[in-house]
Amino acid sequence: MKIQRMTLWQVPLTSHETYRMAGGKTCDTVESVVLRLDTDEGLTGWGEVCPIPHYLPAYARGVAPVIEELAPVLIGADPIGPEALMARCDAFLQGHVYAKSALDMALWDLTAKAAAMPLYRLLGGRQMDSAPLYHSITCVEPDVMAGIAATAYAQGIRQFQVKVGADEDWQADVARIRAVRDAVGPGPLVYADWNCGATTLTAIRAAQAVRDLDIMLEQPCESLEACAEVRKVAGIAMKIDESAHDMGSLLKAHALGCMDVVALKLSKFGGLSAARRGRDLCLHLKTMMTIEDTWGSDITTAALAHLAITTPPRYLLNTCDLSGYVTPRVAPDGPVRENARLAPSERPGLGVSPDEIVLGDPLAVYQ
Ligand SMILES: [Mg+2]
Repeated sequence: MKIQRMTLWQVPLTSHETYRMAGGKTCDTVESVVLRLDTDEGLTGWGEVCPIPHYLPAYARGVAPVIEELAPVLIGADPIGPEALMARCDAFLQGHVYAKSALDMALWDLTAKAAAMPLYRLLGGRQMDSAPLYHSITCVEPDVMAGIAATAYAQGIRQFQVKVGADEDWQADVARIRAVRDAVGPGPLVYADWNCGATTLTAIRAAQAVRDLDIMLEQPCESLEACAEVRKVAGIAMKIDESAHDMGSLLKAHALGCMDVVALKLSKFGGLSAARRGRDLCLHLKTMMTIEDTWGSDITTAALAHLAITTPPRYLLNTCDLSGYVTPRVAPDGPVRENARLAPSERPGLGVSPDEIVLGDPLAVYQ
C-alpha cells in the first residue's frame, strides 16, 4: 500500500461558551486542521490537530508547511506501521511535533483499517469498556462556575477542572475553587488549573487558603521547578500539563516529585505513537494520566478514546470529549459522552467518517 495523496482542511471550531484561562488565553473560535491520506488501495486515513492560540509552541497555520515539507517522504511511502514512517519523517524534519500529530493519527487510522480492526486493538487492546470524563469549567465568576459544575454533576461527571488565574486575582481564585468544591459535594475530584499563569508566591498563597479542601492543583507555574516548589510548600497533589511533553520532561517531573497526575496531550507529544510511549513510561513510573489533546473535534476525540481504553484503569484518571465542547461536529459518527464516559467505535480504524460538506474546500492537496 502506498500513500498517493494528502489533503488538508482548516475548519473553524466554535466553543459552546467562550473558554477563559490564565494569561489572557481564550478559546472562542479556533482553527482545527484535518488531514486525509489517500492510498493506492482505496483506504483513507484521517488525522486532526487543533492548537489553542498562545497555549503551546503550536499554531494551526503551521501544519500545512510541515506536511508540504514532508511530502517527498510521505508520497509513495507505505503507511502501515506508523512508527517506522514517523521515524523517517523525524529524520527528515526534526521537531514540529504538533503538526506531525495529525499525520501520525492518520497513519494509525490507515494501519487499523488495513487490519480491519478498531484502533484500540492495535494500541494494546481494551482494558476498559469506556473511559471516565472530566469537565473543564471556564474561568468566570465563582457562582457561574458552580452552576456549570452542578449541571455537569447532574449529567454524571465526577471530575471537575476549575480554570483559575484569568483575572490575576488569587482571592477570586480561592472563591472559585471553594464554590465548585461546594457545588459538587464531597467525593468528586476537583482540581484548579492555572495553565502556567501563577507565580510561586500567588500559587502558594491561593493553595494555602484552600488547604482545608480536598483538591488538586494543575500546572500553576511555567517551570517544573516552580511547580515542584508549590507542590512542596502547599502539600497538595499536583497535575502537570504544559511542562510535560516528552520522555525527558516526564522523567524530570517525576524526579522533582510534583507529578501526581500528568496530562498526555497527543499533539504535545507528537501523536498517538509518542503519547503511547509516554503512557507506557507513566505506567512504569506509576503516575496517573489524563489522555487528551489541546482541542479538536471528532477525529481527535476518537483517537483519545482508542488510546484511553488501552490504559490500565487504575492509572487513567480521565479523558476529554473535546468534540462535546465545540461546533460543528466534523464527523457525525464520532464518539459522544454517555453517562459521563467516552467509548471508541468498533468500526475499523478510528471509526470516524468526516463530513466533507462540513470540511468545505481543502486548504491544500499534495500528490
Ligand atoms: Mg491543563
